[in-house]
Amino acid sequence: MTCRRCQHQTCKRFGYFGKRRIQRWRCNSCQSTFCEPHAKLTRATMISQPELAARAIQCLLEGCSIRSTERITGLNRNTIMRLLVLAGHRSQRIMDAMMRGLECRYFTRLTNAFSKKLSHLKAAVALHFAYYNFCRVHTSLRVTPAMEAGLTAHVWSVAELLGTA
Ligand SMILES: [Zn+2]
Repeated sequence: MTCRRCQHQTCKRFGYFGKRRIQRWRCNSCQSTFCEPHAKLTRATMISQPELAARAIQCLLEGCSIRSTERITGLNRNTIMRLLVLAGHRSQRIMDAMMRGLECRYFTRLTNAFSKKLSHLKAAVALHFAYYNFCRVHTSLRVTPAMEAGLTAHVWSVAELLGTA
């Protein structure tokens, strides 16, 4: 192992980090400690296992709790929350970019489930709106609201919404 700081080759194993037991190292010459290179969970999960990420988001959209989504997908609940935040930001960007000067429906249904963090609530709301507007076929319109408004020509999949399709 090469030291990140001084490029010495004199590093020794120095315990593990986290549940995934990522190897840590300490440089003998400068005493700095660092982890072995490892994949970050969130983006890595979304890119390396797009089906799993889409399935987790789909569960959340269908109203599953974080913990039941955790049990169904096998992803850790912290990963699921990070996915939710990522998906929410993306949904927000898509809606900001595509939905200009339209009449929109906001909060058709007041939910009785709230997030503990405002950032998580914002992400969840953005995701649900994007899903409602782009992915879910409206019963009375028979197409998605985005199609009705002429923004897109097809029903988006969750994977498309996440940008992994
Ligand atoms: Zn060093």
